[in-house]
Amino acid sequence: MEYTTIKKEDAEVSKILEAERVRQQEGIELIASENYVSVAVQEALGSIFTNKYSEGYSGKRYYAGNEFVDDVENLAISRAKELFGAEHVNVQPLSGSPANAAVYFATVKPGDKILGLKLDHGGHLSHGHPVNFSGMLYDFVQYTVKKETGEIDMDEVREIALREKPKMILAGFSAYSRNMDWKRFKEIADEVGAITFADIAHIAGLIAGKQIESPVPYFDIVTTTTHKTLRGPRGAMIMCKEKFAKDIDRAVFPGMQGGPHDNNTAAKAIAFGEALKPEFQAYAKQVILNAKAMADELMKNGFKIISDGTDNHLMVVDLSNQGLVGKEAEVALDKAGISTSRSTIPYDINPPMNPSGIRLGTPAVTTRGMKEAEMRQIAQWIIEALKNKDDDNKLEAIRQEVKSLCAKYPIPTF
Ligand SMILES: *Cc1c(COP(=O)(O)O)cnc(C)c1O
Repeated sequence: MEYTTIKKEDAEVSKILEAERVRQQEGIELIASENYVSVAVQEALGSIFTNKYSEGYSGKRYYAGNEFVDDVENLAISRAKELFGAEHVNVQPLSGSPANAAVYFATVKPGDKILGLKLDHGGHLSHGHPVNFSGMLYDFVQYTVKKETGEIDMDEVREIALREKPKMILAGFSAYSRNMDWKRFKEIADEVGAITFADIAHIAGLIAGKQIESPVPYFDIVTTTTHKTLRGPRGAMIMCKEKFAKDIDRAVFPGMQGGPHDNNTAAKAIAFGEALKPEFQAYAKQVILNAKAMADELMKNGFKIISDGTDNHLMVVDLSNQGLVGKEAEVALDKAGISTSRSTIPYDINPPMNPSGIRLGTPAVTTRGMKEAEMRQIAQWIIEALKNKDDDNKLEAIRQEVKSLCAKYPIPTF
């Protein structure tokens, strides 16, 4: 029996929560930015640390009674340092976008030039999208992926950097399936005197799990969300070289935020502790093996994956050779119990609200314990569902098969 007190105290919320629990348990989650946190992380999020106000930093708070908040924040910081080898860590950012805002506030001025990955080529809203604060305040110039290969061309990045002389070079993505050449980014930044900023929101868990290379040794500043592959609570953190520490801390508080969410900080400490265990390396390895298996099965069946494969947890499927657009695919797959997100593809001819692709990721299904065989099965269901996108009976039949597979892989709840 889950959430017994809510059930007793608030029937309305209880009903909604139970429906969501069933949705999460019975469906296959392929949204690349999602995951299932452990019961320990869930307990910390529901803990009495949510009662506390603690503006400021350890030993320098603006409220009384913060000795244990200090303990838990210090623990989260020391575990994060151990996990990523960072010189300085701030665990207070409430989410990824505010963390990125704090980085810009700490290091550049409105109107300054920043070089980042083009949004519809895999970048993030907070990397200079015109509707986002980042695009409104800063002068973003962008590098792209090559049309033929779907991969970032570092010679082009260098060319643009030499021409544009940006104050900052940003490397990071929400929808790119290849490894970044961190070292080369750093060399290019040094040539033009730019600050290096990596946003590893998507791949932090794969880096923590020692499966892909880390930018932390090379880059001045690295941000990450804590809730994607890193499998912690919703939130973020900023890692940086010592010389940026004071400015970053000041930009987070009092620059951007008031009180940190201490229940989240406790949950971050727990998640970092989990990520330090050898099992987490096995998890990260399996996430990638699963993504490779899913990409392979889709490609064998005529689907086009941007860059023809993946080195990480995600892939962007170009549906244009399937006579489909992303939104109809997303809707049909949802009816079949498979959760995905529509996605732009590089050089998309369709508009962002109805782009030509879908993005698939394996962090959540891997947490449930699924392996390559299940990935190939899921790929087959995807293919079948898309072929029968207008046949609700067929989609419902797939949904029942999905449900019985999921019954064997319970999600963590208390
Ligand atoms: C998800 C993501 C973020 C933002 O995270 P929120 O917590 O949703 O604000 C920032 N950068 C990148 C690259 C992301 O993928």
